[in-house]
Amino acid sequence: MIDFPCSLIEFQQRFGDEAACAQYLAAARWPDGFVCPRCGGGKAWRLATKAWTYECADCGRQTSITAGTIMHHSKLPLTAWFWAAYLMATHSNGISALQLQRQLAFGSYKTAWLICAKLRCSMLAPGRSLLAGLVEVDETEIACRSKNDPVAGGGGRSHQGKMLVLGAVEVEDGGLGPGRIRLSQAADYSAASLQAFLAANVASGATAKTDGWSGYPGAAGIIHDPHVVGTMAAHIVLPWVHRIFSNLKVWALGVYHGLRRRHLQSHLDEFVFRFNRRRTRHAAFRSLLGIAAAQPPRPYKMLVSPDAAA
Ligand SMILES: [Zn+2]
Repeated sequence: MIDFPCSLIEFQQRFGDEAACAQYLAAARWPDGFVCPRCGGGKAWRLATKAWTYECADCGRQTSITAGTIMHHSKLPLTAWFWAAYLMATHSNGISALQLQRQLAFGSYKTAWLICAKLRCSMLAPGRSLLAGLVEVDETEIACRSKNDPVAGGGGRSHQGKMLVLGAVEVEDGGLGPGRIRLSQAADYSAASLQAFLAANVASGATAKTDGWSGYPGAAGIIHDPHVVGTMAAHIVLPWVHRIFSNLKVWALGVYHGLRRRHLQSHLDEFVFRFNRRRTRHAAFRSLLGIAAAQPPRPYKMLVSPDAAA
């Protein structure tokens, strides 16, 4: 199912009410018709007393259409979830809880915040494959906003600190473009931290291109390609990871007015999720709703070009 609404108007027409959203969920979960998760039976009745719940004709098991998705047990209408996921998946910069609250006219900020937090939780795909080939690796510092700082930023006297971030970017097409990325919060730039990051994110056999910092060599199975440079030239040697870092910082300020230490990793995950799915918004939408979670993990090549899935 790769057809996906390309505009807000199309989206509104397609997912205008609860029934349309439920139908989409059912088709995504059971492309060949209902299958009972307990007995595998193919016949079921829809219950009149419970919303979007089916009862298996063979074993009597009741299955909610939202079971296994992030909408399970939610009191919000499906349309609200669909809108939120659509806005989050299609906005190239993402959307803050405050923006979401305004755009979807949620009664409270808390509702919007919770829905954002839940959507963000489904941004870290389990079992995602490691970066491979030529990978630029570098570290950066990002300003953080403390809880009591004004939203607009506190200027010179604010209690802004720095948070350390490690980044890795696959270099594709002989250096012409970035592939997938990974970002991770780091406690320090020690050899242990850097190598743990490499081990968690870069596949064995890949080549890590770095600025030559002594902490990088030694990660098991990874070929190290150091380029010792002065600070001025690092963006020339490692252009893609530097571009990602600068996009990350602009995004953090623009969408969130600065990130907080406590939520840093989840925001990094959000940035990575959106970047890695920049060519497949429909896949992002499904992942966000948790529909894709029921599916076996798909290789990256299938995600970037679903038509070439075979
Ligand atoms: Zn059954």
